[in-house]
Amino acid sequence: MEGVVLSKMHELGRNDLKVIWISHAHYDHYGSAARLRELTGAKIGIHPADADALSRGSSPLGTPRSYGFIYLFLQPIAKLIRPLPPVTPDFTLEDGKSLRGYGLDAIILHTPGHTPGSSTLLLGDGTAFASDLLGSVSQPHLQKLIATDWQQLPASLKHLQAANPTRVFAGHSHRAIPGDAFIQLGT
Ligand SMILES: [Zn+2]
Repeated sequence: MEGVVLSKMHELGRNDLKVIWISHAHYDHYGSAARLRELTGAKIGIHPADADALSRGSSPLGTPRSYGFIYLFLQPIAKLIRPLPPVTPDFTLEDGKSLRGYGLDAIILHTPGHTPGSSTLLLGDGTAFASDLLGSVSQPHLQKLIATDWQQLPASLKHLQAANPTRVFAGHSHRAIPGDAFIQLGT
């Protein structure tokens, strides 16, 4: 996966990756982080509540609902095929803190529920990367397959809605949710 990032950077004419913000400690969200850090020297950051899982090479799935149970079977197989390396973060940031010191005009919003330290990256232009707080099967919705604490999810959605993002990306979708549609999203 690091090859995808590097080739995209090459395409953009960039070779100055400074920071890798991990939205949460799940297999499919940090498996390439350590290698990418080796190759670029970028610093790796994460919310403190997921830092321990990241350092242990863990990927806590919590309590699945609906067909989220399939991940309980798939993840161990995926780890056998491609082991998940432990990643010691270079830094952690709490809710509301800025990444400006790491070269990025963005703040972190703590949006837990999917995992304890799930966070949203909110850029200065209002673009939000909500990661797996949101799902996008057929249309955008609050996470409904995997959570370590289901009760935290509605408050996390409201926390992000209160920040008035101009557009929001779910973790597994390339299509932005416009800000006015995101505000209408229910819990
Ligand atoms: Zn996830």
